[in-house]
Amino acid sequence: MYDYVIIGSGIVGTNIARELSQYQVKILVLEKENDAANHQTVANSAIIHSGHDPKENTLKAKLCVEGNALYEQMEKELNIPLLRTGAFVVAHNKDEELMLDELYERAIRNGVKEILFHDQEQAFKLEPNLADDITKVLSLPSTKVTYPWEVAFACLENAILNGTEFKKNSEVTDIKKEKDYFKVEINHKVIIETKSVISAAGVFSDQVAYLLEKNVPYQIYPRKGEYFVLDRKAKGFVQHVLYPLPTSKGKGVLIIPQVHGNILLGPTSNRQDEKDLLSNTRDGLNQIKDDLHTLAKNIPFNLIIRTFAGIRASSSFDDFYIQESKTYSNFFHVAGIDSPGLTAAPAIAKYLVDHLLKHHNLQKKNNYDPIRPKKTVFYKLDFEEQLALIKKDPRYGNLVCKCEKITEAEIVEAIHGPLGNDTIKGIKKRARAGSGLCQGGYCEQTVLKIIARETNQPIDKINYYALDTPILVQETKVKP
Ligand SMILES: Cc1cc2nc3c(=O)[nH]c(=O)nc-3n(C[C@H](O)[C@H](O)[C@H](O)COP(=O)(O)OP(=O)(O)OC[C@H]3O[C@@H](n4cnc5c(N)ncnc54)[C@H](O)[C@@H]3O)c2cc1C
Repeated sequence: MYDYVIIGSGIVGTNIARELSQYQVKILVLEKENDAANHQTVANSAIIHSGHDPKENTLKAKLCVEGNALYEQMEKELNIPLLRTGAFVVAHNKDEELMLDELYERAIRNGVKEILFHDQEQAFKLEPNLADDITKVLSLPSTKVTYPWEVAFACLENAILNGTEFKKNSEVTDIKKEKDYFKVEINHKVIIETKSVISAAGVFSDQVAYLLEKNVPYQIYPRKGEYFVLDRKAKGFVQHVLYPLPTSKGKGVLIIPQVHGNILLGPTSNRQDEKDLLSNTRDGLNQIKDDLHTLAKNIPFNLIIRTFAGIRASSSFDDFYIQESKTYSNFFHVAGIDSPGLTAAPAIAKYLVDHLLKHHNLQKKNNYDPIRPKKTVFYKLDFEEQLALIKKDPRYGNLVCKCEKITEAEIVEAIHGPLGNDTIKGIKKRARAGSGLCQGGYCEQTVLKIIARETNQPIDKINYYALDTPILVQETKVKP
C-alpha cells in the first residue's frame, strides 16, 4: 500500500514527489508516457516569471512570486541551469505608459520585490534592438530562464534518491475509492492501492478526475502556444525577456533568451479542442512574426532552426485549482496549471504539502538528501579539464553532436543515468544531442547506434519517442 500515488510527471508532479520525499511516506509517480516531462513541461517559454502579471489575490500570483524565489534554492540543491536575464515590459505611447504604471502597482501588490522603470534612452542602452517606437519599459530583474524538463528530471531523480518510485508507460485508467484507500488501475490491467491520490495530470486533469468523481469543479480548455526557435548564433540579440503589455489572452508574443544561447519567439495563445494536437499552423507562425515587430527590430528570422507548439492546461476555474475533492477525501486536484505553472511548481508542491496535507501529520526523514549532483557538460569545461576527462574516458573525445558539441560519454550517461531513457527524443532532452542547427540530421543515426549498443536491442527496435515509434521500419538495401 502506498501513502501517495502522484499522477503525472511534469514539473508539478515531480516537484510534489520531491517535496513529499522529505517525509516518511511511500510514494509512487505514475506517467502514461515513455518519459517524464513530455507534455506542457517540454513545450513552454522556460521563463521563471517575477509575478508581475497574474490577477491579484489569486493562487497564481502568490505561488508565482514564491516559486520564483524557490528556484534560487533549487539551483543550489539540484544543479539546474538558471539564466538571470531580467525582463522588460514595453510601452509605445502615453496610454501604454499608464498601463505600465498599473502593472507596476499590481506587481508591488503581488509581492514582487525588485521592479523599476527605464526611460527610452536607458532602455535602448540596455537593449539596442528594441523597436524604435518604444517610449518606456518596466524592468523586472527577478525574471529568469531555466531548462524546464531538466528541472523536472532533477526533481524526480532527487525524489527517487530519497525513496520515491517511478513507473512510466503507466496510464491511470480507473480510480475507485474503497473505505479508506483507493484502487488505482493502470493500463486497464494492474491495480495499485494507495491511501491518497494526487492528480497532477496537466491538460488531462479533468479526464483523470472524472475517473473518480461525477462532478468535477473545473473543465480544461486547451490553449495552444506556437514558437520559432533561433539558433545559438542569435545569442546576444536581446539580453532580457521582452514582453508586450499583457491582454486578456495572456502575456502575448515574447522574445526569450534561452539558457543554451538559443532564442525563442512566441508563444501564440489560441483555444483548440484537442489536448494533444501539437502541429504548427501557418496562421500561428505568421501571427508571431507580425506581433514581434512591436517589440524589436532586426529580428534574425534567418536563424530559425525549428518550430514547435505546447498546449496550456487552462481551465474554467480561472486560477490554479489546488484542492482536496469535496466528495472523496484524500483525492487531491492539482489542476488548471497553465502559465505561470513552471515558475510556481515548487511553491505549488509546498502549498499542497503544508496546507492540504497538514492533517496527515507527516514526519520528516532524518536521512533526506536534497542534493542532486552536478552533470558533466563537456563543452562548458576549459581545455585542460576536457583533456583530463578524455584521458579518463576516451568516449569524451568522440564528438557525436557536432552542432551542440555533445560527446559519446554524455549520451551514454543519458541512457544509463538515474532517470535514463532509450529513445532518440529522451536522449535529446537529457544530453541535447540533436538540438542544434541540423536538428539531428547528422548525429541521429549515431545516437541510434549508441542506444542499440548500450541497451542491447536491435537497431530497428529503437523508438523515436513513445512506444512503437521506431525510426527504422524496414531495410531499404538488399545485402550483397
Ligand atoms: C505554450 C506554453 C508556454 C508556457 N510558458 C510558461 C513560462 O514561460 N513560464 C511558466 O511559469 N509557465 C509556462 N507555461 C506553463 C507551464 O508550462 C505549465 O504550467 C507546467 O508545465 C504544467 O506542468 P504540469 O506538470 O502540471 O503538466 P504537464 O507537464 O502537462 O504534465 C502532466 C503529466 O501528466 C501525465 N498524465 C496525464 N494523464 C495521465 C494519466 N491518466 N495517467 C498517467 N499520467 C498522466 C501526462 O502525460 C504529463 O506528463 C507555459 C505553457 C505552455 C503550454
